[in-house]
Amino acid sequence: MLARTQAGKTGPVSNNNFMSNPENILKKHGLRITSFRNEVVQLFLESRHALSNQDIEQSLGNPDRITLYRTLKNFEEKGIIHRAVDGTTTSKYALCESDCTEHKHQDEHVHFYCERCKNTFCIDEVEVPHVRLPDGYIAMTTNMVIQGICKSCMEIEN
Ligand SMILES: [Zn+2]
Ligand SMILES: [Zn+2]
Ligand SMILES: [Zn+2]
Repeated sequence: MLARTQAGKTGPVSNNNFMSNPENILKKHGLRITSFRNEVVQLFLESRHALSNQDIEQSLGNPDRITLYRTLKNFEEKGIIHRAVDGTTTSKYALCESDCTEHKHQDEHVHFYCERCKNTFCIDEVEVPHVRLPDGYIAMTTNMVIQGICKSCMEIEN
């Protein structure tokens, strides 16, 4: 679930930390600031889990789909968001670690898919283990997803 404050405006949190301000994030990755881009980054900042196109559309009150699609593609290329591959057919994105750039994503962490709430989480503290491949195979990206029950679903249950 998304807790949304005023769209596009920088909340009180953003005064504390440079990277919790959408404008700073856009600037750092060489993107022009627009209110739409601000709103999208703000959504990612406020969400605890990865967001699908549909999540974003709902939260932003059905923005133009093509604009949203291009924005997400652009953000991914610039190193602002990464795909949280979770084994489902829905593409989900999450905010990158601050050292991702246009040339290289550094998000080599595990993703967790909750079978109850169907949300996908970045587990930043757990790195994807390196796997030795047989000769003749070259790894480009490695994704690791763990399925189970997330913390908040466990708390509801207990
Ligand atoms: Zn990244
Ligand atoms: Zn859950
Ligand atoms: Zn992630």
